Amino acid sequence: MKILVINAGSSSLKYQLIDMETEKVLAKGLCERIGIDGSKLTHTPFGKDKTVIEQPMKDHSDAIKLVLEALTNAEYGVISSMDEISAVGHRVVHGGEFFSKSVVIDDNVKKAIDQCVPLAPLHNPANLIGIEACEKAMPGVPQTAVFDTAFHQTMPREAYMYALPYDLYEKDKIRKYGFHGTSHKYVANQAAEMLGKPLSELKLITFHLGNGSSVTAINKGKSVDTSMGFTPLAGVVMGTRSGMLDPAIIKFIADKENMTLEQIDTLLNKESGVYGISGLSSDFRDLAAAANDGNERAKLAIDMFIYSVRKFLGEYIVVLGGVDAVVFTAGIGENTADMRAAILNNTEFLGIEVDPAKNAEAIRGKQLDISAANSKVKTLVIPTNEELMIAKETAELIK
Ligand code: ADP
Repeated sequence: MKILVINAGSSSLKYQLIDMETEKVLAKGLCERIGIDGSKLTHTPFGKDKTVIEQPMKDHSDAIKLVLEALTNAEYGVISSMDEISAVGHRVVHGGEFFSKSVVIDDNVKKAIDQCVPLAPLHNPANLIGIEACEKAMPGVPQTAVFDTAFHQTMPREAYMYALPYDLYEKDKIRKYGFHGTSHKYVANQAAEMLGKPLSELKLITFHLGNGSSVTAINKGKSVDTSMGFTPLAGVVMGTRSGMLDPAIIKFIADKENMTLEQIDTLLNKESGVYGISGLSSDFRDLAAAANDGNERAKLAIDMFIYSVRKFLGEYIVVLGGVDAVVFTAGIGENTADMRAAILNNTEFLGIEVDPAKNAEAIRGKQLDISAANSKVKTLVIPTNEELMIAKETAELIK
């Protein structure tokens, strides 16, 4: 069985064609500048060089057509006909309170995704366009929606409610939703496999640390709390996002700096985080190099990131009443031994002991247990794979 995974953005569309028997990516690619001058498709068949196809794509339907042509192309294609695609799995950012799991898409599902547009005004419309483009190009092929928020729908009320007037929750659905759900769920499943225990017997804390970062407390396979909130701005210090701060700061900035709410929203999302503190970069490789050269603000940015992540470790150990394993994933979590060591520094009293040699060995793309031999709590590095998770959920749904 072959599953096409689609991640549609407002002017882009990423795809992977995955063979479910081998879990191998047969081809992947990216359509850019859809609806804008200079649109192009970069298509990479497994084990071969990429092909760049520069062709106008006036909308997502054009993009999907081009993707299907590339996948079936005699020269750089990987399947002989479109009929080999059993289903399409779509990444959808926001499922609101409608979806606690992945679903096969029908008219009601599309309506619900549309109703969540106010909660994800940049992403959900693009996701819907991607779905409708696929329906048009591949009639009769089942389409599924896999939501970033769905995994976190198991959080208890006291975790997801904000202490605002209750009618704001009822009227406007203001609550914590959480994001990166597909990634947290994927690494939790992998962790259970690595530990040789059923997920239903495990307490896990998963650290997805990338450009955007979030931490999740998982009890018996269910998300019970997560660091992102109503939007992905909440929680830990990130590349360019502030993470949590005193909400009164917003009015203070508006008055003091004479800024509009729109401008402050941009400031918090795009100009803050380690980038805002360092004034240098949102990339931890740049920051580490600068800190090494004695740049104090780069060092402060890194220290703030580590501190904010560590606090969630403490919070979630209490929330879970202990922990069996902590899991690191995504760009920073998978690549940076220093950062993992710093986040877990002085946690031996909690039973967390990392083997420095194993920690140094962990590189991107490899699953590794980096715990010291007699550590009570396991520390795992697990590369995330959201596309594979989407494909697996899709395969399960169409069985
Ligand atoms: P996204 O969150 O956009 O999916 P990633 O998970 O790929 O992104 O994470 C990207 C971030 O990971 C980069 O901004 C960079 O700071 C960090 N990163 C990636 N590789 C390394 C590395 N080798 N050393 C330090 N940081 C890294």
